[in-house]
Amino acid sequence: MKLLVLLLAVLAGVWLWQRGRRARGQARQGGAAATLAMVRCARCGTHVPGNEVVAGRQGSYCCAAHRRESEGA
Ligand SMILES: [Zn+2]
Repeated sequence: MKLLVLLLAVLAGVWLWQRGRRARGQARQGGAAATLAMVRCARCGTHVPGNEVVAGRQGSYCCAAHRRESEGA
């Protein structure tokens, strides 16, 4: 009987550990998705990650060349 209680305690511990690890993994994925929000280029329509976007006066662009073509600056 003592062995059965010990086995249940170990199983519960493993279950809690796996559940906590899964929750942390999901939180990390959510953070990555938030920083890599896709932004549409106002010139060619290409979707680029938010951290690579070139911001212009009239919108966001995939590269400096498209910003120059659209805004003439
Ligand atoms: Zn573009």
